[in-house]
Amino acid sequence: TSNVTTARNEGPLLPKVKNIIAIASGKGGVGKSTTASNLAVALANTGAKVGLIDADISGPSIPTMFNVESEQPTVKQVDGKNIILPIEQYGVKLMSIGFLTPAESAVVWRGPMASSALKQFIGDVDWGELDYLLIDLPPGTSDIHLTMVQTIPVTGAVIVTTPQKVALADATKGLTMFKQPQINVPVLGVVENMAYFSPEELPENKYYLFGKEGGQRLAEKYQVPFLGEIPIVQSIRESGDTGYPAVFKKGVTEKAFSELAENVAR
Ligand code: ADP
Repeated sequence: TSNVTTARNEGPLLPKVKNIIAIASGKGGVGKSTTASNLAVALANTGAKVGLIDADISGPSIPTMFNVESEQPTVKQVDGKNIILPIEQYGVKLMSIGFLTPAESAVVWRGPMASSALKQFIGDVDWGELDYLLIDLPPGTSDIHLTMVQTIPVTGAVIVTTPQKVALADATKGLTMFKQPQINVPVLGVVENMAYFSPEELPENKYYLFGKEGGQRLAEKYQVPFLGEIPIVQSIRESGDTGYPAVFKKGVTEKAFSELAENVAR
């Protein structure tokens, strides 16, 4: 796709990373990490070089979703500086706070600690050349969002929401935050996750469990692109838990996430 070769990041940090894309949501549990991980793999499947930072400090789920929970990144010395080597899985370079803390322990981070962890993930990790670096943000609005925009030039943000009213209300806040002057990140568009459910035996039937087309309406209201809808599929949940991304499954899930990747790369 066209932008894979178009350099947009012109900041001093990560000069070899062409596009930095934030994945955000208003609420937790809407499928932000699921979307981030499948989007990362779908982009890598197109031949792009992809990295993914799990900046959801209090609930890092990327190590589980990539089945690398017990991996620990190694550190090498370059010119007297410690450089962290990312974990690579399914063609995606990964960095998560989950690699550095025991899985069962609750991590209580003060804002500045979380922010410095993110800065380290940006500045001290050997990302190499990348077409896309995705950043899976914590839900809502936080210090992390501010740190991110103050540290690196973010190409754009993808907003994940379900069609449900309460999720949309929070997604609206998330979306408008990126438009505020002190953040000022272009919104690449809205993804509607859990858009509908179709039973396997009745694939033509669509049940709109959380309401219909709320993501589309949000995109229209704020005049940003609608990037696609992802149905509720049991195998998406299962693949998150087993760490084998749903985009690898032939059929509706592969189609949904591949189309999303095309729209994000556009
Ligand atoms: P968030 O990052 O927004 O907190 P997650 O990506 O962790 O949300 O998703 C929350 C839960 O919902 C996970 O168990 C995940 O597997 C499941 N899930 C997300 N999207 C879907 C979907 N489209 N179909 C089925 N389950 C989903």
